Amino acid sequence: MKPVISIIAPVYNEVDNLPELYRRVKEVMDQTGEPWELLLVDDGSQDGSTQAIRRLAAEDPTVRPVIFARNFGHQIAVTAGLDFSRGDAVVIIDADLQDPPEVILDMIARWREGNQVVYAVRTEREGETFFKKLTASVFYRLIYRITDVKIPLDTGDFRLLDRAVVNVMNSMRERHRFLRGMAAWVGFQQIGVPYRRAARFSGETKYPFKKMLRLALNAITSFSYFPLQMATYVGFISAGLSILAIPVVIILRLATSAESGVHQFAGQATTLIAVLFLGGVQLISLGILGEYIGRIYDEVKGRPLYITSLTPEQSISEKEEELPQHG
Ligand code: UDP
Ligand code: MG
Repeated sequence: MKPVISIIAPVYNEVDNLPELYRRVKEVMDQTGEPWELLLVDDGSQDGSTQAIRRLAAEDPTVRPVIFARNFGHQIAVTAGLDFSRGDAVVIIDADLQDPPEVILDMIARWREGNQVVYAVRTEREGETFFKKLTASVFYRLIYRITDVKIPLDTGDFRLLDRAVVNVMNSMRERHRFLRGMAAWVGFQQIGVPYRRAARFSGETKYPFKKMLRLALNAITSFSYFPLQMATYVGFISAGLSILAIPVVIILRLATSAESGVHQFAGQATTLIAVLFLGGVQLISLGILGEYIGRIYDEVKGRPLYITSLTPEQSISEKEEELPQHG
């Protein structure tokens, strides 16, 4: 039976969370009375999550496994889930139970009212460090300011997407993905539901600072040219300042003389600072250019977004082979 709701959970070393995730999602989804599926996307786990996913899928056909050949990152794992999902609505949820599955019922209700994107807004975050909360808050507000897409503040990837939205997003094969930005960019009828973000059920965050920074850079470069334009702004400002400085220097030079003992521009420190400052600005601008060019290069190569070692279809045919053969 074709599922009405698909749940996608990206999994990277979450072995202790998987049984609880399955239990709570099942409990919630069975209340809806609709056929559903749970896509568990294994993003190159090394802690036995892969085997746990295979076991769950063998026991219950509503669990459909996607297994990556290596770690491709959270956003790519969710993308694979979207590719393989079959439901009329798709819910993206973290595997660590920070996103309470019970909120899915609110989302479905909002979807039934005709909304095509129902995103969950974090009103509170539990069990996260001050640093994480601060960086997250700064990040959401920065993105909101400098990008053209108005991505709702304090929303993560926990959301429900209608099939129409999923189809559009699946046709956007950009490599450096920022899914919540893409979901905002496509438009359609969107609405938020508030929720309290819980602490992790088990384990540690799989988003170290480096990964967060990469996500932030992808978000900014995918949805804004502002960093590129910054070079222009700084250029105009420093050129303007230099022009203003010319008459000032001339006047000061004429007004003071070497004999009087006052040397206005005797030192080299001023020159040195100006040169170093401009050199720094130029190198930063080059680096920003590099961020964009590197991404263009990645797009041009046109490699697949991810490599799977097991897809839901392969998982089904594996099971059929295991069945006893008669005749
Ligand atoms: N995740 C993933 N690949 C990664 C990093 C994380 O699939 O490279 C998954 C992870 O298993 C979890 C979700 O993405 O289900 C969110 O990660 P996490 O909870 O570590 O992030 P946080 O909530 O701390 O921002
Ligand atoms: Mg988490």
